[in-house]
Amino acid sequence: MTGIQSLPLDIIQLMAAGEVIDSPAAVVRELAENAVDAGATRIVLEVRSQPWQIQVTDNGGGLTLGDLRQAATAHSTSKLVDKADLWNIQSLGFRGEALHSLSRLSQLTLYSRPQLESHSGFCITCDRTGRPNQVTPVAMAPGTRVLVEKLFYPMPSRQPQAGAERAQLRAIQQSLQQLALCHPNLTWQALLNDRPWFTLWPGASALHLLPQVLRRLDVTDLREAQQSVALPDAAGQLYLLMGLPDRCHRRRPDGIFTALNGRMVELPELTERMLAALRRSLPRDRYPVLFLHLHAAPHHIDWHRAPDKSKVYLQHLAQWSATVEIAIQQILQASQIEPRPLGGHQRLTQLLKLAEPGGQYSDTAGDPVEPSTPLTLKAIAQIHNRYILAEHPAGLCLIEQHIAHERVLYEELCDRWELVELTTPLTLANLTERQVEQLQQIGITVEPFGPDLWTVRTVPAPLRDRPDCEDALRELSQASDLDSALVATACRTAIRNGTPLEPDAMQQILNAWQRTRKPQTCPHGRPICLTLNESSLARYFRRSWVIGKSHGLEP
Ligand SMILES: [Zn+2]
Repeated sequence: MTGIQSLPLDIIQLMAAGEVIDSPAAVVRELAENAVDAGATRIVLEVRSQPWQIQVTDNGGGLTLGDLRQAATAHSTSKLVDKADLWNIQSLGFRGEALHSLSRLSQLTLYSRPQLESHSGFCITCDRTGRPNQVTPVAMAPGTRVLVEKLFYPMPSRQPQAGAERAQLRAIQQSLQQLALCHPNLTWQALLNDRPWFTLWPGASALHLLPQVLRRLDVTDLREAQQSVALPDAAGQLYLLMGLPDRCHRRRPDGIFTALNGRMVELPELTERMLAALRRSLPRDRYPVLFLHLHAAPHHIDWHRAPDKSKVYLQHLAQWSATVEIAIQQILQASQIEPRPLGGHQRLTQLLKLAEPGGQYSDTAGDPVEPSTPLTLKAIAQIHNRYILAEHPAGLCLIEQHIAHERVLYEELCDRWELVELTTPLTLANLTERQVEQLQQIGITVEPFGPDLWTVRTVPAPLRDRPDCEDALRELSQASDLDSALVATACRTAIRNGTPLEPDAMQQILNAWQRTRKPQTCPHGRPICLTLNESSLARYFRRSWVIGKSHGLEP
């Protein structure tokens, strides 16, 4: 850590004014960010709620006595030295205002002992301008402790209402969880009124943190991807952690996080793009599980869109956006027929995966390449005229024929929505104005023919030769947009369940389905494939119990 110095006045004026510390959760966020910046690997939060008292202890770099004396004075920070730095921000708590604000809003006590040099630490109590009142040597481990007492005593209006305690505690927990997702190699421990509250354990990546943050989420349902983003003057890196759409989705968008250089931010443009990319992979009104972390060159970011740094301006947003979509694609295609652990195996699989060092991090930096899916499935039999039983090198799959085919046809229609002329025009009766408009909007030629009668001359190619073409058109006239028309067409033309299939036909469906871009689910969000892998079969049949050549084991 370079020493702490007072900022020149022009920088102080440059900094967006406005109070950042407006709640106990904001206090925790600011102090925890400072601890992360200090290079801590372990951060302990102690909270008392009546009255509010907050203490954050870290094992990071620590401050010398000289720096400690200045730490809470007006506009001091060790993280900014001149104006250029303000636009080249690498650390989290860069404002240096937090401690000073806290000296005005509470009774502030700082303890610190530098990692090296010193054998003991110092404790200072601050007055309301942030200057030290009293300095005493203390015995402590290297690191820093900030104690905030009598929070908001000069401003009773800011004190949380009596009933708001639970909401505040929830907000505190969330802010630590979000920081932990961004900095997965740290241990976080929280105590509430002297009792253990929650702990966040470190992991090699956010893969091991997200299941600690979202309940009922299994680590085996998550996949990671990394992509680099080539930008004109500096490369960026992107990390995406995503729940497979056939296995997890949520009622609310509370599992969607975007972080930029170690801090949670709002980048609505990217969120929209991710939701759009997964729209036809999830059931209606359900939200995906996503954690996106961008690592951008500091000079591409303007943090001063909001005083609490939650909103930012990011340059080259279009390239970031396109790369996010590539990462989603990459995950979906790579995990087409991966087995979904069944019942009791789930816990075991989770433990096995956690034990794997480094997890299954796939580093695919470089040019985005269209991944080619090897066709590994071999159709074996049809079951109940509904499921295709298939063999693959690692086990067995059951694929529902209608929705697998529907996924294939939907993606074909997305690539090529072609309207063809009918040999004999069709006549439709009783269409509302809205229905006629909708048909025209998706490119179908509809002309008035008489009272309450319309002639249709063109139809989507897959519908032309179908006997139910008229019903199909009626259905399309009720679709809300082109995309739902594509889904309706795919559903209508896909092989029905209940249809007997020859082996060749089954194999064709499997081959086409394996080539789709988003194979996990049908366009309505239903899972397509159930996989049973050989290792879970072996576990189930207890094959490890038998040693030797008996019991039908191959020699
Ligand atoms: Zn369908």
